[in-house]
Amino acid sequence: MPAKNMEELVALCKRRGFIFQSSEIYGGLQGTYDFGPLGVELKNNIKNAWWEAMVYENDDIEGLDSSILTNPLVLGYSGHEDTFSDPMVDCKSCGLRFRADQVPKECKPEDLTEPRQFNLMFKTNVGPIDDGSSFAYLRPETAQQIFTNFKNVIDSTSKPIPFGIAQIGKAFRNEITPRNFIFRVREFEQMELEYFVMPGEDEKSHDKWVQKRLEWWNNQGVPTKSIELYDVPTEELAHYSKKTIDLMYKFPHGLEELEGIANRTDFDLGSHSKKQNELNIGSSVKENKHSNSKMAVQDDSGKWVVPFVIEPSAGVERGFLAILNESYFVEELENDKTRIVLRLKPHLSPVKAAVIPLKKNNTELVEAAKNIKNELQKIGLGRVIFENTGNIGKSYRKHDEIGTPVCITVDFQTLEDGSVTLRDRDSMEQKRIDIDDLNNYLIKLINH
Ligand code: ATP
Repeated sequence: MPAKNMEELVALCKRRGFIFQSSEIYGGLQGTYDFGPLGVELKNNIKNAWWEAMVYENDDIEGLDSSILTNPLVLGYSGHEDTFSDPMVDCKSCGLRFRADQVPKECKPEDLTEPRQFNLMFKTNVGPIDDGSSFAYLRPETAQQIFTNFKNVIDSTSKPIPFGIAQIGKAFRNEITPRNFIFRVREFEQMELEYFVMPGEDEKSHDKWVQKRLEWWNNQGVPTKSIELYDVPTEELAHYSKKTIDLMYKFPHGLEELEGIANRTDFDLGSHSKKQNELNIGSSVKENKHSNSKMAVQDDSGKWVVPFVIEPSAGVERGFLAILNESYFVEELENDKTRIVLRLKPHLSPVKAAVIPLKKNNTELVEAAKNIKNELQKIGLGRVIFENTGNIGKSYRKHDEIGTPVCITVDFQTLEDGSVTLRDRDSMEQKRIDIDDLNNYLIKLINH
């Protein structure tokens, strides 16, 4: 049972150290959040799961980590300077500003100004002179620098088409109305794949990627039945897109986009290419007077072809929120008590195992527990912690709430026979296991 409302998740995130308001001690900065000790682990685990599924499991996909500061020409030719804007209205009654499609009910239509286009890109000054003559954009998506590096990657890796470039990184959008916790923020991370295919192969590839992405979300604990496919109607499509399927998830605040999977045609490589008129580009692109690279490949007959692009683009924060929401359970216990448990997939859990000595001041138990922690940490599955609160019940509750799949308790029997108690997060069942078998147990549990 997912959370009843966003407040429950926000409260858990703050209480346990997943997410904090950014610059909180100075009143915050709207649309920005900081990921705390557990948040950074969960976020990294989500990103690693994506990277593994994309780059390590597919030999036709390569990784990239491009700069955030972006030459304005990139975003000029991509169309962002002209079209990456949202309609904005002012309410004359309350004095606030809204995205035209997100005006709250309290504002009356007659109080609203005519919508004006507002460009969402952040600009920053580059170099020592602050007179606007030299600026860069903070990238509004990671995709564009994948396109500008198309030739670099293909030439250095000798990949034939079809092949893809994957990237995870920050993106910045000056959203008019950031809201709904980390759902809509001004600084966020994207996980983007640009998969290049020959024209004619694009529709099949698009369908395949929609299925592959649903499978991936399912493996992260967001089941396919919780996702609706939205086939974006022609009038809502971005200028570069021939077809877009949005994966819509029922967030605590409503059904909204988790990921978009677009068929971007030959628009991107066509836009960034030199000698465009020799390339038979199908999309309508701006004449490029600056690029020094021909963004095309030769087909079997030697003809130059601009590949089409299929783009699955997911937000890390939205994924974080969906995964947290799906894993959040409030359970009634026998003694009229309740427990909160995060049933996270073990590979995503911020803490993989907690090792707890039965008595916090007993040197032998503490030493034994520390040794187990150190040994398990070496396997490299993620964070294992030594937990020495002295209250086993409280430790179990805490680890239920942060999604630790297993607690390992070290007691006096451990000192005698080398066995420990394993306590399972989901079933709360306890069983004894030899210390020597812990490594294999954990490897199986986490890599499941
Ligand atoms: P929306 O319509 O919700 O503004 P979008 O269609 O502009 O989103 P895309 O440009 O398709 O979003 O970006 C790809 C992904 O990046 C989205 O599916 C989402 O997960 C994430 N994303 C986009 N904007 C934001 C934001 N302001 N905050 C958090 N994540 C975002």
